[in-house]
Amino acid sequence: MKILSKKIQFIFVLALTFMLSSVIFGSSLEAGHGIDVNGEFAWPVPGHNRVTVGFNDQVLTGVHSAIDIADAGIHGADVVASDDGTVIFAGIRGNYGNCIVIDHGDQISTVYAHMNDITVAVGDRVIRGQEIGTVGNSGAATGSHLHFEYRVNDVRRNPLEMF
Ligand SMILES: [Zn+2]
Repeated sequence: MKILSKKIQFIFVLALTFMLSSVIFGSSLEAGHGIDVNGEFAWPVPGHNRVTVGFNDQVLTGVHSAIDIADAGIHGADVVASDDGTVIFAGIRGNYGNCIVIDHGDQISTVYAHMNDITVAVGDRVIRGQEIGTVGNSGAATGSHLHFEYRVNDVRRNPLEMF
């Protein structure tokens, strides 16, 4: 009887391990709608991979030159630097609300908008994956999301090229 219950425990642990690993594997498949996220940039909102508005999508204000990342649980989630760089803006910037701009060198910069908290300051050196604040709905946002821009020579490019 004791041996039988140990066997059941073992099977239970196996089943649990399988379920957990499929959850982890499943979420990595979902990353950025099946986009390979092993590229140059780190995904700016780890664990929240849904792109709700894409690059060049038509929005009320014209063409969207960024990606919006959002899901039901995203408010207050950590935002991380997509690559090493220097913070060149951290504060309120019009419709962008609480906004961070990071200069990565080689004329490349990234913009993080509508944030809740900002935990870095202008001049800070950041590394890829470092927390820089949290997701919010500041500025002209209808709900909590991260508006993420990738710029080369200050021209907005599709961020999905970089993951
Ligand atoms: Zn946006």
